[in-house]
Amino acid sequence: MLMGLMQSQPLLISALIEFAARHHGDAEIVSRRVEGDIHRYTYRDLASRSRQVAGALDGLGLAMGDRVATLAWNGYRHLELYFGVSGSGRVLHTINPRLHPDQIAWIANHAEDQVVCFDMSFLPIIQAIHGKCPTVRHWIALCEAHALPANTGIPGLRSYEDWVAGQSTDYDWPVFDENAASSMCYTSGTTGNPKAALYSHRSTILHAYAAALPDVMCLSARDAILPVVPMFHVNAWGIPYSAALVGSKLVFPGPALDGKSIYELIEAEGVTYAAGVPTVWQMLLAHMKAHGLRFSTLKRTVIGGSACPPAMIEAFKNDYGVEVLHAWGMTEMSPLGTVCTLKNKHLGLPEDEQMKIRMKQGRAIFGVDMKIVDAEGRELPWDGKTSGNLLVKGPWIIREYFKGEGGDPLVDGWFPTGDVATIDPDGYMQITDRSKDVIKSGGEWISSIDVENIAMAHPAVQMAACIGVKHPKWDERPIVVVVKRPGAELSREELLAFYEGKIAKWQIPDDVVFVDAIPLGATGKMLKTKLREMLADYRLPTA
Ligand code: ADP
Repeated sequence: MLMGLMQSQPLLISALIEFAARHHGDAEIVSRRVEGDIHRYTYRDLASRSRQVAGALDGLGLAMGDRVATLAWNGYRHLELYFGVSGSGRVLHTINPRLHPDQIAWIANHAEDQVVCFDMSFLPIIQAIHGKCPTVRHWIALCEAHALPANTGIPGLRSYEDWVAGQSTDYDWPVFDENAASSMCYTSGTTGNPKAALYSHRSTILHAYAAALPDVMCLSARDAILPVVPMFHVNAWGIPYSAALVGSKLVFPGPALDGKSIYELIEAEGVTYAAGVPTVWQMLLAHMKAHGLRFSTLKRTVIGGSACPPAMIEAFKNDYGVEVLHAWGMTEMSPLGTVCTLKNKHLGLPEDEQMKIRMKQGRAIFGVDMKIVDAEGRELPWDGKTSGNLLVKGPWIIREYFKGEGGDPLVDGWFPTGDVATIDPDGYMQITDRSKDVIKSGGEWISSIDVENIAMAHPAVQMAACIGVKHPKWDERPIVVVVKRPGAELSREELLAFYEGKIAKWQIPDDVVFVDAIPLGATGKMLKTKLREMLADYRLPTA
């Protein structure tokens, strides 16, 4: 083998922040703080403070690979921890603060976190769990020293500002194996205990490069990016890393995630690009509609985490001139797998044909290999019709969960996603369901996503979830659970009639159940397990 003669440098996260400081030193990072005000500084400041974090971690005597947890909103201090913790060789463990405190304690113990840094909004959680987390040696509140209340009951509690203040803004980032762990994220664990994906520096940097590509998230130094997706939800889909890689302005919403606050931040900061799950955008669009508002700078938004209803893609495009990039991924995939953008040959297609493509979850990103298989593991054709279990592999996809939980997850080197999908001849993947949500009616499968998308297109519907209910003859039949828009009128019969002609007759739900709210999980997704529990006593009128 003749070896190439190029330099070999490990791909490390510390390089991202140093690059951003050097080449985009004055690009802004703007954060709405828990304190309520707006904080702004630059990548140069971010780099200095990240180096101080690294120094402060050395000061605590933390070894390489030790876990430092965060319970924090999107903001500049959280970002400093992203670079300071991982850059210095420790592992950033972002915990979802919306989980139950017992779950948070369980996760912190499983990860063996040594330090926990938290926003003051989460002080009550920390007060509830600190006695149950024997590995945690340091509790750090992300605030100024004077904002720290007396008598919190948390031993040794320090303020972040006080902790980093004395540290030098110079720091020699260590150089180590790029396969070393950099951060970790627990899956929401809708069934069983949560399991953690442990990312490496290499996987993170490769993902950051890929995410920035024009046909992926299309990020550049001309963008002002608003990640509404939390930094505790798969590293805000990798945006903090990709933003540093391209030098874009970053705008963080902090704890204010309602439609009004998000809209005001987008307008005030000239946001060109935003990212979040569909439920967040629902609140934003409802606010804008109610007040007759327009966007002046927003151009694109990446929507994923659950299926983006076509009605939302259309509303963004037709009413506001904003392009929606529908994306699919998961915690185990860092998270990006596919993004939906058109190909050159599609540009001449009529609008409605283009929209049919845009609804799909999209094409695989270079680095992600995917296939669909039947129950016996036989590969299925890419005909856009045949659906099967979706498997993936690639350099930013999980090989094994932290501590080997759940055994070997791979099947012949492929990771089974738990999603059911079709892939068309052009390589566009479309999720029909989560395998556990598929409705099996009379031996045929009904896609709950299809049923939900149609309901969501009805103007009186705010949110819709389709679940299967036991049926003596058909095994299961779909029902659609609906939250009406405030003030809107809608009857069961009207909605059922709305389905006619849109899907096959046997796929039309047997019933409509109106509820005040659909339970949402910790990452803003509809919790169908909870919904099924809520409707445990429900009986089909057709049964
Ligand atoms: P969890 O699985 O713990 O809820 P993830 O964020 O990792 O958390 O969720 C990944 C899952 O979310 C995917 O396997 C898929 O079922 C669903 N998902 C993500 N993006 C989309 C999308 N664009 N359309 C449909 N489902 C999606």
